Amino acid sequence: MCFAIFQTWLPFATYLFLLLAPVLAFATCCWRAATEDRSSRSPWILLSIGMFLWSTGIFLSSWEEILQHLPTSIAWFSDFCFFLYGVPVLFAISSVAAEQRIAFFVWLDGVQAVLTGYLTYVAIFSVTPFADVSPQPVSATVLLLTYNVENLLLAGAATLRLLGQPRGKDRGFYLRLCIFLWVYCVMAWIYNAWAATSDTHEVFDVMVDLPFLLLAILCLTPASSEPRVESSARKHPLAQFIEVGSPIFYTVALVSLGISLVPQHFYVGASGIAVAIVVYATRSTALQGRYFRTQQALHEARDRLEKMTLTDALTGVANRRCFDQSLVLEWNRAIRHRHSLALLLIDIDHFKRLNDRYGHLVGDKCLAEIASALQDSLPRSGDLLARYGGEEFGAILPATDENGARSVAVKMQAAVRTLNISNESPTGELVTISIGVAVFDSLQTGDPADIVKVADRALYNAKEHGRNRIESGIQPA
Ligand code: GH3
Ligand code: MG
Ligand code: MG
Repeated sequence: MCFAIFQTWLPFATYLFLLLAPVLAFATCCWRAATEDRSSRSPWILLSIGMFLWSTGIFLSSWEEILQHLPTSIAWFSDFCFFLYGVPVLFAISSVAAEQRIAFFVWLDGVQAVLTGYLTYVAIFSVTPFADVSPQPVSATVLLLTYNVENLLLAGAATLRLLGQPRGKDRGFYLRLCIFLWVYCVMAWIYNAWAATSDTHEVFDVMVDLPFLLLAILCLTPASSEPRVESSARKHPLAQFIEVGSPIFYTVALVSLGISLVPQHFYVGASGIAVAIVVYATRSTALQGRYFRTQQALHEARDRLEKMTLTDALTGVANRRCFDQSLVLEWNRAIRHRHSLALLLIDIDHFKRLNDRYGHLVGDKCLAEIASALQDSLPRSGDLLARYGGEEFGAILPATDENGARSVAVKMQAAVRTLNISNESPTGELVTISIGVAVFDSLQTGDPADIVKVADRALYNAKEHGRNRIESGIQPA
């Protein structure tokens, strides 16, 4: 008697227990989704949807079996839900890291997910949804094989994703998902093998719950125990390849499903394959476009950076680094073409007084104005003006003789004078400059430092002889 009651209530009891575990997993996944920060929330939401579908499946299964008395040997709506649970899970596996996520691609994947659900329905019930034909579900044996393949593919795809070395919180998610999917795969395999030969409920059903209980525990594992991975750490090339290639999992799943449907439902199967190809092509084209735009932006950024490293921030003229590079270049060019090379070293007279009297900000402004006036005094495009250091400038004048160099120097002095910058000093009321000129003809030996030394010596003489002067140095024999 007691045993008979137990026999009657056993299906209810096992179903209740079977339902509790996935519902618990669903609740803990939802909790994770709610507590994670925005960037790592979406895979948890997708896993929650998967758990919801599985729980719905078990609910429908109990309803079909206990209330409708449908035979468990054929597939029904509960099986559709069980199979469908893989769709959001695969979506989570194939989605890329938050920092690389592109909204348009998420929509594309969404389209693929919906279509996978549709194809699954057709595969299980042999009719298109809402058609005026009653469903003709596939046999349980075929379905169990499909489940096992689905579970294995999901676990394999999740493992690949984990091998792709996802970083930070993503790693925590994929690690948990991977453990769950492998345990689920093995348990479901054993259970399905047993269910194929038995039509009664036994306590053995409970083992299906274990993966879900494990997932619930994994979800509750505190975030602090998550392995830390340096986000700047370079990834292994294989890991990079897997991460970049993960969006293809969905396309492969859709094509496989489409191919399996072609023999019985040619148009549905072919449409699935066609959509997978179109989505793939759209993704590739969009990525190619992004690649070109990124490359262009990188080139522009590199050019800007290069310009910045060669420009003096205060005055906007070339900096010392550019001066040194250009001097070597022009020195060698002068040797090759056998022409002369002139160098002017320009120093602002009594600039310290100007700073002391009007402050450094005014001094800075004067430096910029003087740099601009000096730049305007250079006649040829091949000439280069650079800030040599402090309040000193250097001008490199290729193929210029003594007369040419001196006339440029005179022009520079006049240009600075016309700026009318006050600086009461022994040289007068206005700011003046002293210039040392060095002109080297027929260069054969030596190095660029030689011409700098001569110009520097000439500048020293100009200062010594009272400032606001132009002095020329002599090329060593
Ligand atoms: P001299 O005629 O002998 O060249 O006298 P000077 O005062 O110009 O030369 P000194 O070497 O004694 O002083 C150079 C001054 O240039 C001192 C420094 O404060 C000023 N200076 C150098 N670089 C800058 C700068 O970037 N901004 C400002 N405002 N002043 C600068
Ligand atoms: Mg100086
Ligand atoms: Mg000076």
